Amino acid sequence: MSDHRSGVVRIEPGAGVVAEAHGERAGDLQHLVDMGLTCPVSVALSVERLHGIATGQRFDAAGVINEFGPDPLVSVLPSSGRRSWGGPREFPDVGLNEATHALLAARFGQEHADRRWFDFILRYATDVACLDAEPFDEAAAGSDPAGAALEIYLREAGEAFPQDPGRQLSQVVSSMATAWGGITARLLRHAQGAPLEAGLALLVQDNRWSVAPGEIATGRVRMFDPVTGQTRLNGSLRALTETGAPAPAEDIPTALQDRAPERVEALSALLDTARRGFRADREIDVAYEGGRFLVLDASPQASSARVALNNAMALVEADVITREEALLRVAPPSLTAFLHPQVQPDPARKPLFSGVAASPGGATGHVVFTADAAAARAAREEPCILVRRETNPEDIRGMHVAQAIVTERGGMTSHAAVIARGLGVPCITGASGVVISAETETMTLGDGRVLHEGDLITVDGTHGEAHMGEILMTPADDDPGFLEFMSWADAARDIGVRANADTPQDAALAMSFLADGIGLCRTEHMFFEPSRMVVMREMIFAGTEADRRAALDQLLPMQRSDFRELFATMAGLPVCIRLFDPPLHEFLPMDREGRMNLAQSLDLSLTEVNRRIEAISEFNPMLGMRGVRLGLMHPEIYEMQVRAIFEAAIEAGRAVGATVEPEIMIPLVAGRSEVKLVKTRIDSVAAQVRVATGQEVAYRLGVLVETPRAALCAGEIAEYAQLLSFGTNDLTQMTYGLSRDDVSRFMKAYVEQGALTGDPFEKLDFKGVGELIRIAADRGRATNPSIDLSICGEHGGDIDTIDFCRTGGFTYVSCSPYRVPIARLSAAQLAI
Ligand code: PEP
Ligand code: MG
Repeated sequence: MSDHRSGVVRIEPGAGVVAEAHGERAGDLQHLVDMGLTCPVSVALSVERLHGIATGQRFDAAGVINEFGPDPLVSVLPSSGRRSWGGPREFPDVGLNEATHALLAARFGQEHADRRWFDFILRYATDVACLDAEPFDEAAAGSDPAGAALEIYLREAGEAFPQDPGRQLSQVVSSMATAWGGITARLLRHAQGAPLEAGLALLVQDNRWSVAPGEIATGRVRMFDPVTGQTRLNGSLRALTETGAPAPAEDIPTALQDRAPERVEALSALLDTARRGFRADREIDVAYEGGRFLVLDASPQASSARVALNNAMALVEADVITREEALLRVAPPSLTAFLHPQVQPDPARKPLFSGVAASPGGATGHVVFTADAAAARAAREEPCILVRRETNPEDIRGMHVAQAIVTERGGMTSHAAVIARGLGVPCITGASGVVISAETETMTLGDGRVLHEGDLITVDGTHGEAHMGEILMTPADDDPGFLEFMSWADAARDIGVRANADTPQDAALAMSFLADGIGLCRTEHMFFEPSRMVVMREMIFAGTEADRRAALDQLLPMQRSDFRELFATMAGLPVCIRLFDPPLHEFLPMDREGRMNLAQSLDLSLTEVNRRIEAISEFNPMLGMRGVRLGLMHPEIYEMQVRAIFEAAIEAGRAVGATVEPEIMIPLVAGRSEVKLVKTRIDSVAAQVRVATGQEVAYRLGVLVETPRAALCAGEIAEYAQLLSFGTNDLTQMTYGLSRDDVSRFMKAYVEQGALTGDPFEKLDFKGVGELIRIAADRGRATNPSIDLSICGEHGGDIDTIDFCRTGGFTYVSCSPYRVPIARLSAAQLAI
């Protein structure tokens, strides 16, 4: 701190160690000093002068206060004003006493002077002398608040209010240091990631500009548009009239451009200096006096994703930062603001209930309890929120038309969560303390309140909270800068980002988010729409192979046309199609009505439907007849699918004039033999198609590694596969032995007890599940060094998973389409 007329003070928190200043303004204050932009009557307090303040020594500030000349009035600015950090607030008007009060009154009128005098006494009494605020409240209501406050001070503090500005400053600085160094404040900060011994910086600054009349004006200016983030000089200046009342604020540059263009120019130059010095844009508080601007403060703007993104791009344009730095300045999760509307935050608002933030975005609508009710509302163009105990494929059409989805059960990887993320619909799963009954059409909350059909609620899927009634929404930002920014991210990243896309519509979405391909097409999801569901169930319920083949004959053309569209939409980008993996419970009709419908559509009696459901129901459907087990027990199912894939690839290839080489992935494998058997059958279908069409059919074989055994046997499996894709949803479920559909019931309490650090379905467990993946990757590579590796479970879009995959040399990650931009930016940040 060479210049003693301006500077940042570092307070030593104890033990003789000088800590760095911390807080959101610390760097800014230091920069202002470094750039020579601080107002020249800010005062430096050297570290030596403040030595020991936090440990209780008194601070003689007389010398400091003298530097402000006669009748000083100063503000003390802390480097961190964040209350959540236990930081002291800015302390204005230090130096006010009987004499300065009289001066203020003479210049600005009695009322103005009295108000400030009272405010200062009150603040000093409570924050410095630690007096109770209550008696002062009564004084405020009286005829002479300041006089009464002085009397209360004398009575309560046992001494007269200090008149000496030096003593006031000394005490104020001490109290700010003490507030900062208290145990509660330290723990508060520590909980938010600050070092336990974080230091405080203070700037003592002349306060004259906030009070001086006439020629002096103060205001706030910036170089960026506060809504779009683009470069635009704006702000306002406000002078004080001779009576001390503020004159109307003058807009910059509009009001000044013609009258005083040189001031606009000076402000531009000043902001440009600050921009280059900070290597960022700041909101700058200025004072204008005697033909020049002085800087009082510079603070970062709490900004939206749009402002952050465009401002970072503007700084690149102005040659202040590089593209890489710009990419690092936008938090990947904040990109959801470009993709979904968001509920406007209000910390005071208490949620109706909360749960797992399963799919981001906000929506308001009327509560409905069934897919039919959702469809009926949609037909009347009324927004609705589909509320279910849990969802299954029967709910899909309701989920398509609902504005948001809430389920009582489930977690991050349950049916509702996966589908909602795919649709881009806000969703809360595992709503805590909530009991949902479709029978009585009620939703009973933890506190006993009951919601009924038609009640209006707002779902905040970004934060996993629901609120009563309609809440103001910030619309999704439609910003042209977004695409360009994302192209920078693509140039920087070194790992692929594909999308999990099940239908041609999903594929179109994946393309619009510039995914590098499809990493997982869950083929059974193509049958979630009602007319197709009937055929799918016919297939599942078929009692004989002949019946099953009849159903499969109907499914074949549907699959072929979907696959053809997928290939065509993806225009040559890789498409990884997973063969059927329908956990049966997702496809069985749950209630009587669903079973009746099924009986009608299959032309069976209800008794027969019930009997068949009984026959195929499983105690543990997630560990049952699904995935490759279904494929091996009923080979005709995979044969139909593989045929559809090959025929579609040939047709799409003809249309685009290039060879389409599909990736075919086998789910729920436990070892090499299953893969070998399925591969033999795929090859045989390939030969049949080749003979029938005269066309060569090439494909790449993928194995979904989602059982612990498959991970351990990856070396053998890799003999047959060109791709190992880790299904981290099932792999987590099976490694922990923890049901992915029921986990929310106790996960929160379990984490609170410290039994787990977090929900492993939300954040990949790198220690256990990650170890299995590492082992599998090593063993797979040892057999087949060119094998592609990827993750396609719901963890795929998370930055820590991407980091893990990059480190392991994986080819790509795959996530739901709406998470693709977030994953692209995360990947870029990791590569920089
Ligand atoms: C997985 O288990 O991670 C996976 C991708 O498959 P699904 O979520 O469909 O079971
Ligand atoms: Mg799975």
